[in-house]
Amino acid sequence: MDTAEIRRRFVAHFEYNDTVGAHTPVPSASLLLDDPNLLFVNAGMVPFKPYFLGQETPPYPRATSVQKCVRTPDIEDVGKTTRHGTFFEMCGNFSFGDYFKEGAIELAWELVTKPLADGGWGLEESRLYPSVYADDREALDLWKKVTGLPEERILRLGKKENYWSMGVPGPGGPCSEILYDRGPAYGPDFDPTALGPDMPVALEDRLLEIWNLVFMQDELSAVRSKEDFDIAGSLPKKNIDTGMGLERVAFLLQGRENMYEIDVMFPVIEKAEQLTGRRYGADHGDDVRFRVVADHVRSSMMLIADGVTPGNEARGYVLRRLLRRAVRSMRLLGYEDPALPELLPISRDKMGETYTDLHKDWDRIARVAFAEEDAFRKTLQAGTQIFDLAATEVRSSGATVLSGDKAFSLHDTYGFPIDLTLEMASEAGLTVDEQGFRSLMAEQRERAKADARAKRGQHADTGVYRAVLDEYGPTEWLAYETLETESK
Ligand code: ATP
Ligand code: MG
Ligand code: MG
Ligand code: MG
Repeated sequence: MDTAEIRRRFVAHFEYNDTVGAHTPVPSASLLLDDPNLLFVNAGMVPFKPYFLGQETPPYPRATSVQKCVRTPDIEDVGKTTRHGTFFEMCGNFSFGDYFKEGAIELAWELVTKPLADGGWGLEESRLYPSVYADDREALDLWKKVTGLPEERILRLGKKENYWSMGVPGPGGPCSEILYDRGPAYGPDFDPTALGPDMPVALEDRLLEIWNLVFMQDELSAVRSKEDFDIAGSLPKKNIDTGMGLERVAFLLQGRENMYEIDVMFPVIEKAEQLTGRRYGADHGDDVRFRVVADHVRSSMMLIADGVTPGNEARGYVLRRLLRRAVRSMRLLGYEDPALPELLPISRDKMGETYTDLHKDWDRIARVAFAEEDAFRKTLQAGTQIFDLAATEVRSSGATVLSGDKAFSLHDTYGFPIDLTLEMASEAGLTVDEQGFRSLMAEQRERAKADARAKRGQHADTGVYRAVLDEYGPTEWLAYETLETESK
């Protein structure tokens, strides 16, 4: 079943629902909603936040959407796990003070298990494991009632997995997940009654999380961390917020190994195979690179489509890093010519079936992406030799650490962002004195600030990104990541 059909079935299931009532289908919001805590929309509920927070009255009691999401903190997992993209689509259903736990559980279970011929996804019940928050007896009983599964089949997990909050006082609540057991080839056997409170890392690829149901019921007065908060009472109106990973269900239903192999992503890998002459599936290291290419080409295209342009701060920096990582991965696969003009149109043709603006706006999108590749090729040309020389020097002196000084001069003179130096160093078996690099950057920033002050008198830079940068230092990527809060 192709991804478009899975998406269609999801929306239809909720739009025409007669158990709890029809859900209003709401189109995806832009990735760039104005939210001081988020660089990008990272969950389906983000556009509905004002309703959940009681700041606005929802125009409908129930809604369903397929929301474009970007999660930059997942970038290191891309291609290595089977299930993390920097861009993905989150299907969701939402209740604003309308139906609650029982309705949400019933609807999710129905869609997942209903036979293919009847419009569902037909996933085998024997492979499905619901999970609840360990203290949520109500949810446990409802899962038993709705699914007829014995209690032993229902996992009880702790706050880390199964309690949701926004990290600040306000709404919070327990979650339930639906996990799919991919079988012993993907992880060790397990005893469902003895799992938890955290999901063991060794099982994350085997017990694939496909759907998260958040039961917003508590009013939190203090949130010190994900696992340390005070519940002040119950919310006057209880809400449902769910998120289902479209690509994850797609790779299960398409009999693929991971999300990068689904119908809307794999053609990019095939094109990259053609260009590089290497075969996907032949070498683990190469496979990761192929998947990074497929993911990053798609996510950077979707970001440009929503108006991001490459730059040195915040959103622009994320885009720059994605484009550059895609290009570098192609180089590591042995392809040195401009790659984006070959790859981006493939991704456009697939994603453009749903996101038709990709076609309408193609000239601009292509121009932005290709210009960044050109600039990066020049940077690489200038800096790679310097880097290689430095790496050789370090090694021949018997050391394994590239000095902060070197990293700084690569940054300052050749425009090598620190993350590129870090990646290249790690490929060369070296580490980088990041602390040293950071203090040199801080010194430089102080000098620049003093200069600016001298020029225009006292001036306070109040930009939120700047504040974070000052607090966390100049490791651009990491600094910006601290702005992202996982939303479920
Ligand atoms: P995981 O534990 O696998 O990282 P999560 O708990 O962070 O997932 P949620 O915040 O609960 O994910 O998001 C709801 C759903 O969105 C998940 O159940 C999953 O199906 C999907 N999802 C989350 N992150 C990604 C991603 N990076 N790429 C693709 N799908 C994702
Ligand atoms: Mg996650
Ligand atoms: Mg999870
Ligand atoms: Mg989750």
